[in-house]
Amino acid sequence: MSSKNTTVDFQDIEKVIFQIVKKVSYFSLLIHILLIFMFAHIGAITLAAVNIFSVFAWALGIFLITQGLNSLALRVFCIEVVLHSVFVCATLGLEVGFQFYLWTISSMLLVDYQLKLKKAFIYSVSLILAFAALYFFFKDVTYNYPYAEFIPLIKITNIIIAGLPMIYAFVLIRETSISQRKELTEMAARDHLTKLYNRRFARKLIIDTRQRCIESDSKMCIVMGDIDFFKRINDTYGHDKGDTILMSVANAITQYLSQKDIIVRWGGGEFLIILTDTEESAAFERIEQLRQNIHTLKPCPDDPEISISMSFGLIEWRPLVSLNDTLHQADTALYKSKHSGRNKTTIATPEQDYINNLKSV
Ligand code: GH3
Ligand code: MG
Repeated sequence: MSSKNTTVDFQDIEKVIFQIVKKVSYFSLLIHILLIFMFAHIGAITLAAVNIFSVFAWALGIFLITQGLNSLALRVFCIEVVLHSVFVCATLGLEVGFQFYLWTISSMLLVDYQLKLKKAFIYSVSLILAFAALYFFFKDVTYNYPYAEFIPLIKITNIIIAGLPMIYAFVLIRETSISQRKELTEMAARDHLTKLYNRRFARKLIIDTRQRCIESDSKMCIVMGDIDFFKRINDTYGHDKGDTILMSVANAITQYLSQKDIIVRWGGGEFLIILTDTEESAAFERIEQLRQNIHTLKPCPDDPEISISMSFGLIEWRPLVSLNDTLHQADTALYKSKHSGRNKTTIATPEQDYINNLKSV
């Protein structure tokens, strides 16, 4: 399930990337058409001819994107940018600033997920080396065409236009990795059936919540709940119906409790509920209402005769008592609910249990 989700995510991200690349390509196509006339106008006929090739390359790239051949389109753009940069730098010199597009294309290659990392890395490094080589081979080429006074302006414009896609690429990588990290943490924290927090993740959540309650000097109750005779329901109606019941119970508990409370699928038909800012007596009332509510549920509409009940054990988390001991006491209270007829809520009495234990020794 997780790998399927990740694949869908990558496809979505790639779709967005190439929708933007497509828009940029239309813009680039237009610029190269204009450049044909501008280069012809200043007398750089070879460059005008090179730009006719560029227009074809960008048109071909756009066509490839519309056909879904995104990676191929990106490679066509790469070849165009490399040749264009080399020809412009060889003819007009480095002062015009067309070499900066090599940096752009180098970073764009890294967001092409269809390209293996090793290949993308090699291509990107080659483009940066090509950038350095331009400074080596064409350092003496000077601009000998009209409108020389506009060169600084053209250079700044080229730097800005070349820089924007690079910033965009980094923003995209940053956002993708943050959202995927969040998604992975969520996936690792949740039970796949009920979508509630799972037991492994819950411990840290409970400890953190406990810390907040201590700081704000508020009470906190721990409730252990378990579906009654769940095994029998599974055996009678099948495991799928059992799963439906689990989801229905999880839903009922979630609906009934507040946002501040924590609900955990503890295992099997067992749920752990943490009621924050709640004293024992108030917690008892709330859990009793929840219990009655669950007993009226019709979890399987196509089998309306199926009804369920739950037993609960409840304890207020006392200062200086560990989580494990508190969980154990909630469990003991749940055990008492089960053994006194089920469909009940029992408040834990650890002190009384301790005295009884001493008496029995
Ligand atoms: P009791 O009233 O004493 O709790 O009796 P019980 O039959 O409910 O006993 P117990 O709580 O020990 O049974 C838990 C059952 O939960 C056993 C197993 O068949 C079932 N179970 C555990 N995980 C799942 C699950 O993911 N889906 C389904 N459908 N059943 C599960
Ligand atoms: Mg049970």
